[in-house]
Amino acid sequence: MKLVNGFDLMDYAKKYHHVLPAFNTTNLEMTYAIARGLMEANLPGYIQISSNNLRLSNPRIISLIAQDAVKTSETPIALHLDHGKSFEDVKACVDAGFTSIMIDASHLPFEENVKECRRAVEYCHFYGIPVEAELGALQGKEEDVVNEAECKTDPDMVADFVERTGCDLLAVSVGNVHGLCLNPKIDIPLLTRIDEISSVPLVLHGGSGIPKEVIWEAKKHGLIKINYGSDLRKEYIRTFGEAYEANHNEHDVIHLSVESVDNVSRKAKELVTMINEN
Ligand SMILES: [Zn+2]
Repeated sequence: MKLVNGFDLMDYAKKYHHVLPAFNTTNLEMTYAIARGLMEANLPGYIQISSNNLRLSNPRIISLIAQDAVKTSETPIALHLDHGKSFEDVKACVDAGFTSIMIDASHLPFEENVKECRRAVEYCHFYGIPVEAELGALQGKEEDVVNEAECKTDPDMVADFVERTGCDLLAVSVGNVHGLCLNPKIDIPLLTRIDEISSVPLVLHGGSGIPKEVIWEAKKHGLIKINYGSDLRKEYIRTFGEAYEANHNEHDVIHLSVESVDNVSRKAKELVTMINEN
């Protein structure tokens, strides 16, 4: 199967009542592992990569790897840009064959956030690609955990934001935290309120550590996509770390890389199955 267009993936999820996991990749091994996890579970989802992680490769290379990784898939898989940091990154990913895009201008003042999102939406919609935008900066930097400041999405801004940006998915901040956070307090009443107002489906970042019961509840209130980064990264790093702990002279990169693909794909399969159990 080819990489699936993001709009088609969302339609598929709605039709069959799935929540779509979006698994963060960094490199070749993780990309193959994510595709394999989804294929073995026979459930749909996203392979995604953040602007930050693209520093290691580039959108064209990740796109080619992803296309190869899904070629035997019988379940729909899209390739998504996570936390697109600039219009240039958005454009580079669309041009490279990504099938879904996030623009993250949530750190900017509201009006500038709207303007940046609108610009990305106009470009992506021309090519028939959906755009995720974020309102209410999420706690934690993309890859570290910060548990402080309250910065939840203000429901009163949702309708205006969605309408003016033209976004197709809305990432919300309802107590979810980037990084591995055990038992984050997801504000279901707030999510419910946002869902009542929002004309587009909702996205939760920072899925690692959120109990399945909370995800099932969120699914009843507009959740269509949930991001998992830390859970898979941990599996990847653990594979190499344990080998090094066991033998400081370990040098069998290929064997460990194959093992890391096994471990990451097992985790991806477990997560996609778990969130769709109910
Ligand atoms: Zn995120």
